[in-house]
Amino acid sequence: KAKTHFRGQCILFEAADSEEMKNAIAIERELREGNLEEELFLVFQPQYSPSQKRVLSFEALARWENPKLGLVRPDQFIRVAERSGFIQKITGILFRKGLAELKRWPDDIGLSFNLSARDISDQTFVLSLLGEIMKAELSPARLEFEITETAVMSDLATSSAVLSRLRSSGCKIALDDFGSGYSSFEYLDQLPLDKVKIDRSFIRKVPHSITSREIVAAINGLCSKLNLRCVLEGVETDHEMAVLEELQPDLIQGYLFGRPMSGEDARQLIADQQQQNADHAVRYIQSA
Ligand code: C2E
Ligand code: MG
Ligand code: MG
Ligand code: MG
Repeated sequence: KAKTHFRGQCILFEAADSEEMKNAIAIERELREGNLEEELFLVFQPQYSPSQKRVLSFEALARWENPKLGLVRPDQFIRVAERSGFIQKITGILFRKGLAELKRWPDDIGLSFNLSARDISDQTFVLSLLGEIMKAELSPARLEFEITETAVMSDLATSSAVLSRLRSSGCKIALDDFGSGYSSFEYLDQLPLDKVKIDRSFIRKVPHSITSREIVAAINGLCSKLNLRCVLEGVETDHEMAVLEELQPDLIQGYLFGRPMSGEDARQLIADQQQQNADHAVRYIQSA
């Protein structure tokens, strides 16, 4: 973010910000000149259900491997792509790649996909995503779209209408990073939601802060009263999990249960999980 300080007529940029601006310019150039279809790919992070003791779905996370820039993280290029008008192109490419991967997974595993502000402000674009799901002959129920409060903030009524369209087609909607930034309870009331993801900034404080613990417990409790599934994001340590366990969370996503991984590794994890279930069933039959 370029912080500007108005002093008279003069706008001074902080040194760090000008470095960031240079990066943004290089990123924008490569968005224009790079071969995005080839360079963009997805990694997949498991969402684990402690009660069912299995992974129910994966979140697709964007990565960009560019010959000049190297590996670029989404926090660096998504914002630039939004400002320079490349975001829908990027979302489209990634979404098709995500669907191709999902097609290789068993029917009971879902995929969550992040949408940005510009994506959901455009009804036609969102409908084109639904078209891709149909073309891929996938059940919309296996897809979930993650949105953040910044994405819906500018026009809540429009976002809400567009998201309702996705939801009435059978897709699920998750509110991402809840509790960070300007997240408001109004979103829980106004948006058509299935799921809320509690931001990692709370989770990481839980072991040392009773206040954070109570906040997470309260949001978790509220979600269950509102019939929303709740995800604890960014659980990294056994210590965090030990404290969070007593909340009986619906889902956990974090390094403790799995880092973002390649499609191949995700398929392996799914296969291992099915094998474990099969082993368990055999043992059950044998002992019965
Ligand atoms: P997010 O949607 O909240 O995704 C979670 C981020 O937290 C991911 O970072 C993930 O790698 C990281 N994470 C997961 N578990 C842990 C943990 O235990 N500890 C720590 N420290 N981090 C953890 P990533 O992949 O760098 O993505 C950053 C953000 O970029 C995402 O936050 C999302 O807002 C955005 N993003 C990612 N992919 C896409 C995309 O395809 N489209 C759009 N519009 N945005 C995307
Ligand atoms: Mg997300
Ligand atoms: Mg998040
Ligand atoms: Mg985030």
